[in-house]
Amino acid sequence: MKMNYRSFQSNRVLDKVKSKSVFHCNYTITPYVGCEYGCVYCRKCIEAVTPEKSPDTILIKDDAPNILRKELKSAKKALVCISGYQQVENEKRIIRKTLEILSMRRFPVHIITRSDIVLEDIDILRKIAEDSWCAVSFCINTLDEAISHIFEPHAPSPKQRIKALGKVAEAGIPTGIALMPIIPYITDSKEQLEKVISTAADMKAGYALAAPLKLEDEYRARVIQVIKRHFSKLLARYRKMYEFGPLPDVRYSRELKRKIRPLLDRYDLPEGIEPTYNLRKTKQVRIENY
Ligand code: SF4
Repeated sequence: MKMNYRSFQSNRVLDKVKSKSVFHCNYTITPYVGCEYGCVYCRKCIEAVTPEKSPDTILIKDDAPNILRKELKSAKKALVCISGYQQVENEKRIIRKTLEILSMRRFPVHIITRSDIVLEDIDILRKIAEDSWCAVSFCINTLDEAISHIFEPHAPSPKQRIKALGKVAEAGIPTGIALMPIIPYITDSKEQLEKVISTAADMKAGYALAAPLKLEDEYRARVIQVIKRHFSKLLARYRKMYEFGPLPDVRYSRELKRKIRPLLDRYDLPEGIEPTYNLRKTKQVRIENY
């Protein structure tokens, strides 16, 4: 899909997270509104923050670094989650600039990505890991390129992501896999899960996160359409499984957990991530000095 890029004047980049998540985010930073990777189960591709935002438009918060500098003057130090690595970052380097600022202020950072472009920032991520705390979670739900292409059509291939994970681990930065979302009856076989988990463990992943596919209203119809086109035999099952809300029924979720647990044990991958930063020990650098 050909994307359009537009500058977007935002007056805020650091968003406080109210609810708890497996990523442990206290804040999020999203330098780009929209994403060119086009995953079918993503609301970021379609969210409409302004009337001019259509699915093929990426809004660029060019001024994000300056806004962040101001916001950090009064922000309580806590974990910042950043997502949004995509091709446009190669040119704009907005994530890079925000990382430099967060590094100066010794804020802990968690990157969540499907992109190997994160490797461009390995130097600064290593510094953050040394001075405060940093982790990079790679979202990989299958190593099957064909399935991945159906659901995440423009994202880097799972192979590229796994390779990138290996390089991040090699650089001494904590990294792991987010098996997210696990797509019922498509990427959830024991064999498929084992392939992802064992390969990630070989590449020295330090943890795994896992969650089944959610069907939120914003993208439910889009996912169902893809299931209908490529996996039509599963359609009735999906309708039943997601009859009462965005999560698959309890029985499915329980069985999935039962399948994943022993695999993680076998490959010695802890489930979940434990941010280990000590905010009192991380020295603050005055933002004016930067
Ligand atoms: S990579 Fe992430 S943000 Fe981009 S489309 Fe996929 S799920 Fe959405």
